[in-house]
Amino acid sequence: MKSCRKELWFEIPKRRGFINITPQVEKCVSESGIKEGLCLVNSMHITSSVYINDNESGLLQDYEEWLEELAPHAPISQYMHNRTGEDNGDAHLKRQIMGREVVVAITNGKLDFGTWEQIFYGEFDGKRRKRVLVKIIGE
Ligand code: ZN
Repeated sequence: MKSCRKELWFEIPKRRGFINITPQVEKCVSESGIKEGLCLVNSMHITSSVYINDNESGLLQDYEEWLEELAPHAPISQYMHNRTGEDNGDAHLKRQIMGREVVVAITNGKLDFGTWEQIFYGEFDGKRRKRVLVKIIGE
């Protein structure tokens, strides 16, 4: 069995944002040379997510509004977590609901997606460099 580990780095200039990272993950799969296997993609931070859904701008706006309704950023005093002096209590909750990682099958050297599936990085406490791990195993 072969394995391949890569890190992707992102810096979102705002507090929150979404990026379609499918092209970067496809590049990792292609560089790994693995034709049949599994590809794990996970955020290495507790205030950002990796998830799979449709690449559609209306949906990204819907996520932003839905997550702000569920866990509004302000007032920051509403979160016990922020009593530590942080201001990202909302970002921990947003990450929880949007998830930590995805696993995609690799078939014939390609990510074996369902219809319209794309991989996204969701940032909930941005303005700094953050990492995503890509681990590929197979043959
Ligand atoms: Zn925190």
